[in-house]
Parts: sequence; C-alpha cells; structure tokens
Amino acid sequence: MRPFQSMEEGGHEALHLFRDGGCGLRAVIAIHSTLLGPALGGVRMWPYPDESAAVEDALRLARAMTFKAALAGLDFGGGKAVILGEPHRDRSEALMRAFGRCVESLGGRYIAAEDVGTGPEDMAWIAAETRHVTGLPPERGGSGDPSPVTALGVLHGIRACLRHRLGHERVGLVRYALQGLGHVGWALAHLLRAEGATVVATDLDRARLERATAELGVIPAEPDEILDTDAEVFVPCALGGVLDEAAAGRLRAVIVAGSANNPLADDAVAELLARRGILYAPDYAINAGGLIHVAVALAGGRPEHARARAAAIGDTLDRIFRLAAREGITPLAAAHRLAAARLEAIARIAPRRPPVAA
Ligand code: NAD
Repeated sequence: MRPFQSMEEGGHEALHLFRDGGCGLRAVIAIHSTLLGPALGGVRMWPYPDESAAVEDALRLARAMTFKAALAGLDFGGGKAVILGEPHRDRSEALMRAFGRCVESLGGRYIAAEDVGTGPEDMAWIAAETRHVTGLPPERGGSGDPSPVTALGVLHGIRACLRHRLGHERVGLVRYALQGLGHVGWALAHLLRAEGATVVATDLDRARLERATAELGVIPAEPDEILDTDAEVFVPCALGGVLDEAAAGRLRAVIVAGSANNPLADDAVAELLARRGILYAPDYAINAGGLIHVAVALAGGRPEHARARAAAIGDTLDRIFRLAAREGITPLAAAHRLAAARLEAIARIAPRRPPVAA
C-alpha cells in the first residue's frame, strides 16, 4: 500500500464523516479533487478495525481516483466512500438509503459507484435517495458490470508492454501467470485464451480454478506457486500488496501487467522491478477500463464508446514507457508525472466567470 499521512500532505479538498444512529450507519466520504469534474469513486464496505483506519483508507483511495481519472483523460475528479461494516452481515436497504442521503447532502460533488463489498443492488438502494450514483443493474437502466471493459483495457495494456519489452505485440506467442480468476481475471483469461495464449492461472477458490481449467483451458497452479511460474507476463488480478521486495526479487516474469489495485507493497518496489529489467504497467493506468465504462455511461455515451476509450489505454502506456525511458525514471513515476501535468494545466486556467448580461 502507498503510505499516506494527512489531508494536508495528500492535498484533499474535503473529508465528510456521517453517522445514522437509527440504522447503525458509519460512513466516510473523502473528496480529493473536483478540479476536472465531480469526484467519482466507489463505495467500499469493509469491517475496518476503527474509524481512523476507515478515514485513512478513504483518503488514500480518493487520491488514487484523481490520478486514475486524470491519466485516462476523463472529466471527473477523485473521491471515495467507505462504510464501516461486514458486507455479508450489515448490508440492508435502510443502511444504503441512509448512505444515499449522505451522498445527496454533498449536492453532486461526489458520485457513488460500486466497489469491494458493494454491488448493483446497493447502488439501486442508494439511487432511491440521490441521483448522484452510478453502477445500477441493467434492468434499472444502469450500465452493468464494468469488469469486461477493465479486462479489455488490460489486454490493450499488455500489448503495449509486449511492444516495449519484447519488441512485438503478439499476445498469443507469450506465456502468462495469472493470479485471481474473479470478475476481471476470468474475463481476461478468456481474452488471452482467445488469442491462443498459454495461461497458467490460480485462485484461492478451488472450484473456480477447476471451472476455469475446464471451460477456459487455463493450466492450474497453486496460489503460492504463481510468482515462480515460468512465464513472460505476471498478471495480478487479485488483491493489492502481492509484490513486496522479496516477491519482486524472485519473480520470473519480465512484465507485470494486471488489473489489481496497488499490487506493489510500496513505491520502492517499482525501482526494484526496473533494476531487474521487469517492465511494470502502473496499476491505475492499465486498470482504468472500469472507470472509463462508468464515466462514459454517466456522460450518456454508449458501451462501444467505452470500449474504444479502453483500447486507448495501450496508447497511454506507450506514453508512460517512452517518458520513463527518456527521463530514466520508473513507469510508475512517469504515470504520476503525466497525471499531475494534466491536473496542473487545468488548475492554471482562470476560474469560471458568470455569463455576460445581454
Ligand atoms: P473479484 O473479487 O471478483 O476477484 C478476485 C479473485 O481473486 C477472487 O476469485 C479471489 O478468490 C481471488 N484471490 C484473492 N486473493 C488471491 C490470492 N492470493 N491468490 C489467488 N487468488 C486470489 O475482484 P475483481 O473485480 O475481479 O477485481 C480484481 C482486482 O482488480 C482487484 O484488485 C480490484 O480492485 C481491481 N480492479 C477491478 C476493476 C473491476 O472492474 N472489477 C476495476 C479496476 C481494478
């Protein structure tokens, strides 16, 4: 995880804490930036040990959303909400409607979407109280699951990595070690196999792994073997923090490119990967497809627009890798620079003026 100390250091605009004694809601909404547009970010529900852990996570995640949207060229800012609770036990219509009222009170500065621990049903409950929410089920007029677009974006990102590291972009000629066959991992394994690639895959859920072996033709591996798999590309599609210094030091792949948020235990691991000649596709650049899907739907665009924009993730990675090579910095540092450059340029333009009276 990237360390985070304070709102001051992170440059956040606002932090809101909400409590509803009637239904037991405790929630945090962190708004990092509305410079490019309303702060868009998921609602995470998690059994945080205490409120300060929830605040810290919301602040850290909100900031990452600003950078993700900026780099993807979207007209949205960065925000994140967290609800303290155990999703399987505590989710309810009343809790989500109470949270919807919190979102409504911010007047559109924050737009809610699904994240870990919440799904389309929760977004539909939130929508009973506010229109500042997205990710509703298709039967409620929503845009549906963003994961297939995330997987498509990762595929285009992988092509860019192959071009830069191996000098070709033939996805099917390369061997992949894929960690996590969930929403994104499954869709991505399907895309890779459709290109004829050999995919060694793992998941903690054995039944899912067996199904992927039978239905997708992946080669199954044990969860603790995947980093040692003989493959050119390591594809993290599970949880964050999987590559600490020890893991990065023994990785056999020459490319790391997957959907997982924060796969590096800290930013120093990016330096270690670069020293070992391993090309790292920064997480928030390569996994922006889901955010693009949501943002395009919010702007009234059609699914094919989202897919076309997700394809441009390959071009974004090309720019990142070229800048990194030119400046002698890691791809992660190059991604930060490109995102910050867009934010700084927009921050410099004059504030909006009221229209001139006729
Ligand atoms: P998911 O919960 O559907 O799938 C995760 C899978 O990883 C599960 O099947 C789980 O059993 C498996 N897993 C967890 N730890 C593992 C381990 N140590 N070894 C092997 N398998 C393990 O999640 P998802 O929606 O597919 O998202 C995957 C990652 O991509 C997450 O980090 C998420 O934050 C990120 N992401 C997802 C989207 C999206 O559109 N869903 C967008 C951007 C980023």
